[in-house]
Amino acid sequence: MSDPLQSLQPLLPMLPTATPPAWLGVMGGGQLGRMFVHAAQMMGFKVAVLEPAKECPAGHAADHLLSADYGDEAALAEMALQCAAITTEFENVPARSLSFLADRSFVAPGASCVSIAQDRIAEKQFFTQCAPSSGVLPAPYHVVESEQDIAAIPDILFPGILKTVRMGYDGKGQVRVKSHDDVRQAFAALKGVSCVLEKMLPLAYEISVLTARGADGRSVVYPIAENVHRDGILFTTTVPGPNVSAQSADKAQQAALSIVAQLGYVGVLCIEFFVLQDGSLVVNEMAPRPHNSGHYTIDACVTSQFAQQVRAMARLPLGDVRQHSPAVMLNILGDVWFEGSSDAPREPAWDKVLALPGANLHLYGKDDPRRGRKMGHVTFVAPTLAAAQESLRAACGILGIAL
Ligand code: ATP
Ligand code: MG
Repeated sequence: MSDPLQSLQPLLPMLPTATPPAWLGVMGGGQLGRMFVHAAQMMGFKVAVLEPAKECPAGHAADHLLSADYGDEAALAEMALQCAAITTEFENVPARSLSFLADRSFVAPGASCVSIAQDRIAEKQFFTQCAPSSGVLPAPYHVVESEQDIAAIPDILFPGILKTVRMGYDGKGQVRVKSHDDVRQAFAALKGVSCVLEKMLPLAYEISVLTARGADGRSVVYPIAENVHRDGILFTTTVPGPNVSAQSADKAQQAALSIVAQLGYVGVLCIEFFVLQDGSLVVNEMAPRPHNSGHYTIDACVTSQFAQQVRAMARLPLGDVRQHSPAVMLNILGDVWFEGSSDAPREPAWDKVLALPGANLHLYGKDDPRRGRKMGHVTFVAPTLAAAQESLRAACGILGIAL
């Protein structure tokens, strides 16, 4: 039998680098696409965005917006003809569309990598396969696709979290369960789609590791980001992480480098890990793109995650990942456009937030604030982490965000 990992190594032709003013393409028009557009344009590239919605954060910034479904072959062919390289800002782009593009242009990351990240079962199997050299395993889990699967769940997995295999994000498609009966109910509520039941682990804290790998196989790894989630949504990212020991940082970075290499990946990849109360490391999931927890790199690192994605897909040298200032990133959700818990609208006091030391405001140009919707972020950079955290606390006070 052929080595399954071997088959993931894309056959990379020795393509020339893409240099400005070449066109780059991005699948998806959300905020990640928008920040990618900004980074690419800063280097003199032109950017085309393919996105079904006519109004979208990346579309407002792009040089060309193709309003079409992700599977629209005429639009895909047009993008491939125009662009020297194409990437994706959103992992649920059909892998078939990425393959279609790859027959006509250079696509990074490749369809085989994105399709693993789209499917929690494939992702966990891949992490397990990588474990002998990465040194990390995913949380214990059980596939739930039928009543028989539910009956076969070992008791040791309770309490657990039932997660849909596909399309989960920001804690959506997840239900906490304590018993087989809870799983039956949750599985029915999720309409019987494929799920995995994961054992609930005793987390000490959560981290993510951002890496980038070039088509030449060279890779870089950013400093460890420590993440706090609220209601399943990223709340803050702090770098350096106050809880992260040098030992666990090193282990996580080595694990991430091993995984990105075994994947034969090209582009920016973010891997989320749990650090358990006994200090052990567990790999949670990966995002085949720049990640919310990497937004701090825009203001605090020599090369932002978006500029790095541009370099990787254009087959240009990867940039310096060095962090020049401690940083804290605060996600701004639609909630801050409302008074307390009421429906009364208000305009957040950005003038006061921007008066805080080290504040960098990033709003994504969405004009419909809704509770729980990511509208922007603020990154505080400062000579010391304590000073950045001081600004964070003040910003939360101004915006009415409980800490
Ligand atoms: P994302 O927005 O990162 O794509 P997601 O919806 O795919 O999120 P996960 O990252 O799987 O979801 O889980 C969201 C959060 O739920 C985690 O960051 C963690 O706080 C918590 N969580 C998930 N799985 C477990 C687990 N097995 N044990 C304990 N906590 C967990
Ligand atoms: Mg996650």
